[in-house]
Amino acid sequence: MKCPLCGLEFEESEGLAACKSCPVSRTCGLVKCPNCGYEVPGDPQVVKLIKKWRKNKNET
Ligand SMILES: [Zn+2]
Repeated sequence: MKCPLCGLEFEESEGLAACKSCPVSRTCGLVKCPNCGYEVPGDPQVVKLIKKWRKNKNET
């Protein structure tokens, strides 16, 4: 995957390892760029959940 901030291409596993110290690492679903530390949403399922949540919020 590619970091949208610095453009570095890296493996998702690298990013997950970089986010290991994150207190919510098991649920945050973010992949951290090893170069600049930008957190990229790596898990499509999480993105789906957020989109669903946003949709629900707009409806109410
Ligand atoms: Zn980066």
